Amino acid sequence: MTDSADVIVIGSGLGGLTAAALLARYGKRVVVCESHTISGGAAHGFKRQGFTFDSGPSFFSGLSDPLSRNPLRQVLDVLGETITAVPYDPLGYYHLPEGTLPVYRRWQDYREAIAPFSPEGAAQLGAFAQRLLALYEPLRQIPSLGLRPDLGVLPLLLSHPLAMLKLLPQVATLQQSVGKILDQTVTDPWVRRLVDLECFLLSGLTAHETIAPEVAFVYGERETAPVDYPIGGSEALVMALVRGLKRWGGALRLNCHVEQIMVQSGQVQGVRLQNGETVTAPVVISNATLWDTYSQLLKPEDLPAEFRQPALETPTIHSFMHLHLGIRAEGLADLAIHHVVLQDGARSLTEPGNTCMISIPSVLDPSLAPEGHHVIHAYTLESWAGWQRGPEYEAQNKPRPRICTGPWNG
Ligand SMILES: Cc1cc2nc3c(=O)[nH]c(=O)nc-3n(C[C@H](O)[C@H](O)[C@H](O)COP(=O)(O)OP(=O)(O)OC[C@H]3O[C@@H](n4cnc5c(N)ncnc54)[C@H](O)[C@@H]3O)c2cc1C
Repeated sequence: MTDSADVIVIGSGLGGLTAAALLARYGKRVVVCESHTISGGAAHGFKRQGFTFDSGPSFFSGLSDPLSRNPLRQVLDVLGETITAVPYDPLGYYHLPEGTLPVYRRWQDYREAIAPFSPEGAAQLGAFAQRLLALYEPLRQIPSLGLRPDLGVLPLLLSHPLAMLKLLPQVATLQQSVGKILDQTVTDPWVRRLVDLECFLLSGLTAHETIAPEVAFVYGERETAPVDYPIGGSEALVMALVRGLKRWGGALRLNCHVEQIMVQSGQVQGVRLQNGETVTAPVVISNATLWDTYSQLLKPEDLPAEFRQPALETPTIHSFMHLHLGIRAEGLADLAIHHVVLQDGARSLTEPGNTCMISIPSVLDPSLAPEGHHVIHAYTLESWAGWQRGPEYEAQNKPRPRICTGPWNG
């Protein structure tokens, strides 16, 4: 059986759904093919016994702000979809070996919270933040929804001459790692580790492996836009994108694994599905990973070697091990939503098990748990090896040591 479309999108993660829904909004016939039985990819939600869990992201900003620079909010606006989000501050707590640090939206408040841990570091952090905020300032004036990776970006950039003028002195910073800026501004080891931790939370990588614009944008947004949580969890965002896609005539096919992107004489023809069907289209967008797309969905000869090989050498990080819990809420008044636990400050943040991220989104959205209960999502880096079912798995799947004590509320 053969179907046809203007564009096929492989994968219904936030990226795939965004691309598909926007293309549908602007008149293209779009089909999204998703392997899984539910949409959302890393951001899908799931329900068990009255609890609604986020499988991945729980930290968002600018969703409730009509002037938001968060591209996701802008996309929902373009699609005519709305979601409700609850703002909050402090953003969460870092439970460090030396004590618990509240993380505030505004730099001034955050620096004051850091000062008891390291007065000199708090002062140095100011210089570091200034460097990143100077990069954010021109970036924020360029509409993120119009950005594209080719020369087509030029008319957009030229239509914002003031932002471009401000960006010129920052061109070198655009290319730098956060670690480089840290080296130039902060000597205090405590604050250097704190910045490393924040980079790790954003990118899964250390400051020296994280690009400056990414962190500049997050730090800048945190200062100017609300940090907020979508009512209904990350699933609510996914559902809003799916509604937007369908509202504008796009199709979503679940349980629809793409086996091959068909290419003939250098021209994409469409995709072949696992069930033997083909869907034809002159454009295919892959939301699958870079590694899957270049090594499984496309044949080596479909891409120039000088492009394919370096791309495939992009390093991966460890897998995450997740724990999803429903708990009783008695005695847990005034809990905060986000917590990060660092077990051992002398060990690497990226060492499996050393840094643990914990979210309790039902403190902001009680509808995620039955009355008198909370949902908890905790995860840490852990290599996938040894976790396949079998004797090794049974041995690993034993109670783990208690990882943290300390205050969990404001
Ligand atoms: C644990 C965790 C916590 C995170 N926390 C945050 C956070 O707090 N804030 C934040 O902003 N971001 C966070 N992120 C990052 C964010 O969730 C991801 O960047 C985003 O969801 C990725 O979306 P994507 O569309 O790029 O890819 P994915 O979500 O990976 O989607 C890819 C989709 O493609 C499908 N697919 C793959 N191959 C095929 C195929 N051959 N055929 C058909 N379908 C296929 C997959 O099933 C999947 O649905 C977190 C990520 C994780 C994992």
